Amino acid sequence: MTSKKLFFILVGLGVLFVSLLVFYINNKQEAPKEQPIVKKTEQGGQTKNTAEKKPTPVTEQPQPKSQPAKKSFVVCIDPGHQRKADLATEPVGPGARTEKIKVTGGTTGLSTGKPEYILNLEASLILGKILKQRGYEVVYTRTTHDVNLSNIQRAEIANQHHADLFIRIHADGSTNRNTSGFSILTTSSKNPYTQAIYQDSLQAGESILAAVKGSGETKVNGISYRDDMSGLNWAKVPAILIEMGFMTNPKEDQNLSNGDYLQKLMMEVSDGIDEYTKQ
Ligand SMILES: [Zn+2]
Repeated sequence: MTSKKLFFILVGLGVLFVSLLVFYINNKQEAPKEQPIVKKTEQGGQTKNTAEKKPTPVTEQPQPKSQPAKKSFVVCIDPGHQRKADLATEPVGPGARTEKIKVTGGTTGLSTGKPEYILNLEASLILGKILKQRGYEVVYTRTTHDVNLSNIQRAEIANQHHADLFIRIHADGSTNRNTSGFSILTTSSKNPYTQAIYQDSLQAGESILAAVKGSGETKVNGISYRDDMSGLNWAKVPAILIEMGFMTNPKEDQNLSNGDYLQKLMMEVSDGIDEYTKQ
């Protein structure tokens, strides 16, 4: 008989224990609904503070990114010039008294007759495509010829997009048809407007120059330090100007209008940018 009593006592305790457990679990599940939702979207850059007393319906999380949460590297590409030059002037740098033409007409291919603004856009679109394939975020200042963008406005597009690199694509011209070669223009260490970006700009220029030189296919002239270019002086992000070659040199003009040559050259420029991002 005592063992039967003990049995009932144990069963009774068991039931009580299970009931307490169920009660506890139910309470625990309800609890979070009452808590405010704080800082759910920190990853996306916008910190949303949705702490509220009222039990609001749980809003959707921002779209889960398909790629791992890695800040993308933004390259702003500026295809130099446009169909029509704008000969009005603008300050050469922030607060400068010296003014320069807003956007000049550019050079012309000696043997192809191609205007520079067309070649610049061709090259820029190739470069942008390669960079996108490599995971970069690409912003263009223009994708058509019929725009009117001064060099300041072009720099400001790069600034507004917080570009990690602003690349201006140009081709050179000279009165001497024998002059040839690829070069990069960047501001000097003495430039009053670009102190903050001088080092990074130079680094990017050197990386690209080394990549193009390494291929051995293009004659490379080097880096020119220029403090008279509004498009560089107004940039608040690392900025360089690429002179792809001389359109006034018949051979280089023909090369630059050769799709394979241009593709290869832009691939090398991209390799240089890859190298720069590793530093
Ligand atoms: Zn140009």
